[in-house]
Amino acid sequence: MEDMKYFYELYTKLPRGGPGDNASTRKAYKLMKNVPSNPNILDIGCGPGIQTLELARISKGKIIALDNYQPFLDKLMQNAKKEGLNHQIIPKNQSMLEMDFDDNTFDVIWSEGALYFMGFQNGLKKCNQLLRENGYLVVTEAVYLLPDPPQPVLQFWEQEYPDISDIDNRNKLIEKAGFNLISHFTLSKSSWIDNFYNPMEISIRELKEKYQGNQIGLSVFETSQNEIAIYKQYSDYFGYEFFIMQKT
Ligand code: SAM
Repeated sequence: MEDMKYFYELYTKLPRGGPGDNASTRKAYKLMKNVPSNPNILDIGCGPGIQTLELARISKGKIIALDNYQPFLDKLMQNAKKEGLNHQIIPKNQSMLEMDFDDNTFDVIWSEGALYFMGFQNGLKKCNQLLRENGYLVVTEAVYLLPDPPQPVLQFWEQEYPDISDIDNRNKLIEKAGFNLISHFTLSKSSWIDNFYNPMEISIRELKEKYQGNQIGLSVFETSQNEIAIYKQYSDYFGYEFFIMQKT
């Protein structure tokens, strides 16, 4: 699909593939207890890998960084090399729907803003298989933060991720899938605005200039601009929740 070309052009310009910040990655990591000093980590849907680099800094472990878009993996490894972290990170270009790891392999599975591509429930099940006993699954997931979101919010998520739910509902699925929920917290608004949407707005401006008169390109950028507008107007109603879960 031609529109994906413009979508990827926009996203390869951004520092992150979604909302997040290093302080939250670190906070979530510290909420896990008794993780081995050199853990075996899988980062699902790592994108350009800001959080992968932070995991390498914090953990001293080995991290398989999995994504199905090679330019993201290339960008991650370039940045890892600059910091001397490349020996800790193994890039893997594979779909998360076709992961071929053995069961009981990982001490920690991480996924910021990406597990939903597998479906939350299906993702929990698959990660439970891949984790060692007492291993941790740590993810950010889009959630409703207030009841009865307004129509534009419902409409937006119906297109983006119809399975979005509230925190209580996610907790139920987590327990059902064989995890203890150790902790959870909501990402700050600045991790959406400062780290994700502000750079996106700058890139959209540049790309709209570059692709003047290109209807497909312009409609892709328009969709992203609409996403930003929805967030700015309704950010009390939805957000990303960090869930820190331990395999029981
Ligand atoms: N974790 C990164 C972050 O927070 O910056 C990226 C999050 S971005 C919202 C989602 C990522 O999932 C993208 O890098 C995308 O390429 C990747 N992705 C989407 N579908 C995938 C699939 N089927 N298998 C592997 N990665 C996938």
